[in-house]
Amino acid sequence: MTSPDRALLTIDLDALAHNRAVVAAQAPGAEVAAVVKADGYGLGVGPIAHRLHAEGTRSFFVARSDEGEALRRALGSRSATIYVLDGLLTGTTDRMGAARLTPVLSTWAQVQHAQGARGLEVAVQVDTGMNRQGLTPAQALSLAAAPAGPAIRLLVSHLGSATDPAEPRNAQQLACFGDVRAAFPDVPASFAASAGAFLGPDYRYDMVRAGISLYGGGPEERPDPRLRAVATLTAPILDIRDLQPGDRVGYGSHFAAGRAMRVAVLAAGYGDGVIRAGMGRGRAWAAGAPRPILAINMDLTVVDLGDGEAPVGTHVELLGPHALLDDVASAAGTVAHEVLVRLGTRAERVYLGP
Ligand SMILES: *Cc1c(COP(=O)(O)O)cnc(C)c1O
Repeated sequence: MTSPDRALLTIDLDALAHNRAVVAAQAPGAEVAAVVKADGYGLGVGPIAHRLHAEGTRSFFVARSDEGEALRRALGSRSATIYVLDGLLTGTTDRMGAARLTPVLSTWAQVQHAQGARGLEVAVQVDTGMNRQGLTPAQALSLAAAPAGPAIRLLVSHLGSATDPAEPRNAQQLACFGDVRAAFPDVPASFAASAGAFLGPDYRYDMVRAGISLYGGGPEERPDPRLRAVATLTAPILDIRDLQPGDRVGYGSHFAAGRAMRVAVLAAGYGDGVIRAGMGRGRAWAAGAPRPILAINMDLTVVDLGDGEAPVGTHVELLGPHALLDDVASAAGTVAHEVLVRLGTRAERVYLGP
């Protein structure tokens, strides 16, 4: 039941399916794996994974082993490979086996650990220039030359600057990956995440790992009209107030009215995932137009209604098909990924579509 004073988070699974098809069209011939770490980017890994599986997804990536276990439970008897990006840490081997998870090995210690875990299938990540996770290219080459290593199912690397197609680091990483990949001729390879999948055929290899693009985030950190909004956050108007010149809104002096104006007070704040850094810069969609966000407090957000007419109780869109994910992110000085994972559990959730 919708409460009159509760924000509403609508998750459109048909839009998710649409976005998956857009990524697939960008990467013909490559498998589209789904990255569903952090509870499906905060949107609920169960419903997200069920729909993606129905759309044909058979490979999923999570970050942590417990996320892998939760996903395996959610998928039940559906067949899928679940890759765990944190790899094989001491104490996780039995759990990997029990939940049939595929660790993505990214240190030499993990490789040695895997050698002792017979029967475990693994993936291997190689660091081609992001300096975050992955074997060095030299380590990967010595693994390729090792007589009896673990059964490697996938060779992975990750791009550090794929959201900027003009960045020379993309081509440098690509060349490095090509060299390493040549030493694993029989192992399928995955290089591109969402942004990389849009960089062109050289970047696709056998599998792209789509995360943010599935959820509507553009490959270049700005809205992409081909993708649809998956998450829509709206909040009801609790009150409409008239301000006089000089009146301040909320805490401190972030905003003082320069003229007489009408503002709407919404029942959502940073406690509902509206990122506070967006105050003074972001826009909400109310009465058919974008409206400046004047204040974001824990429970309340205040927007300038301008000449818009919106009665108390009307829902205002803070994120969705009008208040676009990438615009919300840039107004808050962050990336689309963070906007989604901050949505949390306070807003009421509704899933649209099968
Ligand atoms: C998070 C992550 C992805 C997905 O990235 P998006 O930008 O959301 O597509 C892919 N690969 C790795 C290794 C990741 O950590």
